[in-house]
Amino acid sequence: MEEKNNTIVIDGKAIAQQIKDEIKKEVSDIIDSGKRPPHLVAVIVGEDGASLSYVASKEKQSKEVGFTSSVYRFPNTIKEEDLINTIDFLNQDDEVDGFIVQLPLPKHINEQRIIERIDPKKDVDGFHPSNGGRMMYNMPAFIPATPMGITSMLKRSNIETVGKHCVVLGRSNIVGTPLSVLMSRNNSDTNCTVTLCHSKTQNLKEICLSADILIVAIGKPEFVKEDMVKNGAVVIDVGIHRIEDKTKEKGYRIVGDVAFEEVKNKCSYISPVPGGVGMLTVVSLLQNTLKAYKKEVYQ
Ligand code: NAP
Repeated sequence: MEEKNNTIVIDGKAIAQQIKDEIKKEVSDIIDSGKRPPHLVAVIVGEDGASLSYVASKEKQSKEVGFTSSVYRFPNTIKEEDLINTIDFLNQDDEVDGFIVQLPLPKHINEQRIIERIDPKKDVDGFHPSNGGRMMYNMPAFIPATPMGITSMLKRSNIETVGKHCVVLGRSNIVGTPLSVLMSRNNSDTNCTVTLCHSKTQNLKEICLSADILIVAIGKPEFVKEDMVKNGAVVIDVGIHRIEDKTKEKGYRIVGDVAFEEVKNKCSYISPVPGGVGMLTVVSLLQNTLKAYKKEVYQ
């Protein structure tokens, strides 16, 4: 963690590495005991640049911790039934512990049907309604990777959460909504009072100003400004955007949903973009895969 004017800039990369080292050690012990390593499969359809780079990162990091990693690649023209057949095959394969189908899928494929076809026991992305329901009722479940990564980030940074007012901006199925459930959970890692905001929220600025912990996942570059943040707040930025910047060699820079430079001096802790939440997302997927292998969620 780096300190800037008393603000702690959370080092997502270091936290991710710490968790990966723990997984790697466990996998090494598994292999030493004569068992096969966990196996994670990614299914990708089409050539979307962002999806290809996410899957490449999942594959690389899986191998780093000692997992077996496979990628099933299909062209954009694949028929829904053929994708369903692949999912049925992976559901049946005892050598596959968990798999993900990289989203978004082409428009002719019914995404919800695909998600619901995945065996919940292998649904390491945590997008199947069974896992969503189990999470809701505080039962063992695969938690979606980004919200899970954010709670790990708060815990491993020793940020106090109990009784704090946590404001979550954005209510997507993959980030804001599950995060609001996790942050309000009755346990020592979270236990916040949560306000979940969205595009119809009134008095957004006032609500943000009352946040002890502000978690921003709205998909709008540098939306949260200094005048929306209380002094001493913890600010977690989930957003990720490439914006044009001719002063950079590549012609762009990566920013989040928070105007980092102006907000950082008001915070006690802030997560940067890049180098923040994004680093924890793949690692959480690896944690879920290890849980699937050990049958910790479903016996
Ligand atoms: P999303 O599906 O784009 O949804 C955005 C949410 O923000 C919606 O709930 C929307 O409200 C709300 N919103 C939009 N404009 C708003 C405004 N002006 N005021 C208040 N609320 C507003 O979001 P997402 O998929 O969660 O992604 C959010 C950001 O996180 C994106 O930049 C994405 O790239 C990034 N992301 C990063 C990671 C990572 O690993 N770092 C993972 C996932 C996503 P309504 O519901 O009313 O439309």
